[in-house]
Amino acid sequence: MAAESEERSAQQDVIASFERAATRLGISQGMRSLFVEPWRELRVALPVRMDDGNVEVFIGYRVQHNAARGPYKGGIRFHPRANEDEVRALAMLMTWKTALVDIPFGGAKGGIMVDPLELSSGELNRLTRRYTSSIQHLIGPHRDIVAPDLGTNAQTMAWIMDAYGQANGYTPAVATGKPLEVGGSAGREAATGRGAMYVLQAAATDMGIDLRDCRVVLQGFGNVGSWFAQIAHGEGARFVAVADHLGGVYNDRLLDIPELVKYRNEHGSVAGFPGGTPLPREDIFKVESDIVVPAAVENVINASNAGSIQTRLVLEAANQPVTPDADAIFKERGIPVLPDILVNAGGVVVSYFEWTQNLQQYNWDEGRVNEALKERMLRAYNAVTSLVKNSDLTFREAAYEIGVERVAKASELRGFVI
Ligand code: NAD
Repeated sequence: MAAESEERSAQQDVIASFERAATRLGISQGMRSLFVEPWRELRVALPVRMDDGNVEVFIGYRVQHNAARGPYKGGIRFHPRANEDEVRALAMLMTWKTALVDIPFGGAKGGIMVDPLELSSGELNRLTRRYTSSIQHLIGPHRDIVAPDLGTNAQTMAWIMDAYGQANGYTPAVATGKPLEVGGSAGREAATGRGAMYVLQAAATDMGIDLRDCRVVLQGFGNVGSWFAQIAHGEGARFVAVADHLGGVYNDRLLDIPELVKYRNEHGSVAGFPGGTPLPREDIFKVESDIVVPAAVENVINASNAGSIQTRLVLEAANQPVTPDADAIFKERGIPVLPDILVNAGGVVVSYFEWTQNLQQYNWDEGRVNEALKERMLRAYNAVTSLVKNSDLTFREAAYEIGVERVAKASELRGFVI
């Protein structure tokens, strides 16, 4: 639970980071007002016929924050807490993220308040189609491009592409993160985890940390967490504890990550994995480590636990897992936090490659995708670290400063504030 002082909205947290960057950059009040407001947002009611014959109505959102640097871009999450505030915050985060990694997109986000684990595949297909038809006038390959996020996956994107295509003709570039068979990109599924690994490798080198000699603690074993774990494990990193929404597992020697992936695929969770001892889900951050990787949901590292986490580095693979109060505590303790808009940007970078491949109808092989991903991630990482070295900024403050400055410059050049 977050401490009382942290009872802010998700949007307020992103705005606070933005405002600090805007002040340092001397951005005008008018421009600031523009950036704290989403450009456009839509709330939709989604009636769906359930398998038992009853109709249930779900609530969905699409928020488009800013498109100064290119079409809106952002994932869609299916989660019981996917409300306006969360979706607005994540849309704004996307604007700074796409700018930081310098891809020609703006920021958007979508969400449906639903627990996808409680719906059958048929129900999820109908819900996704209803949502797509309700937002289809706002999305499109040159307007707003969707992608997977928490609780959605390549299958969800295939349904969106199909539903959009029924009304608009074959348009694979409306969604990224699709299965390979229907226009997905090689390397997209692993891209967020792989990008996080590239950032970690660079940071470890700078900090003199040998990854083969490191204990890693990981929260979240979905798309981002499990791919990050597989790639980092392949590089010799030693995972000692992993947890997901149902429970955790601990092994002080090392967890066999490929076996853990197989176990999760069969059982839907890491809980009960025989290659370690059970760990209550809420104890994951009590395990001592060299690197702690939150890759699940937001606000899990907050004022109530940041002071006691024993680690040398925090890698934010999820969006907003570390609250501003926890950030301040880590700063005080001299523990660097590598921020979400840098660490998990690999997903949107390869989404950009998928989009370009779809527009050109020309496919890249995985080697080319991973090379280009590495180049973009390292360029962004180097820009952030050189700003940190020449200032007293944290990694998050530097990352925001770069992203905000690029969006402000594009907005000014386009002259749309008249
Ligand atoms: P996912 O649905 O594939 O996996 C989520 C994981 O988190 C699961 O293992 C789930 O069990 C676990 N989890 C959920 N609630 C938890 C809790 N309370 N405690 C512990 N574990 C919990 O989602 P994902 O796509 O891997 O996304 C994870 C995070 O990364 C989100 O913050 C998302 O916004 C962010 N992200 C995802 C992508 C992407 O390409 N998928 C890109 C950028 C950022």
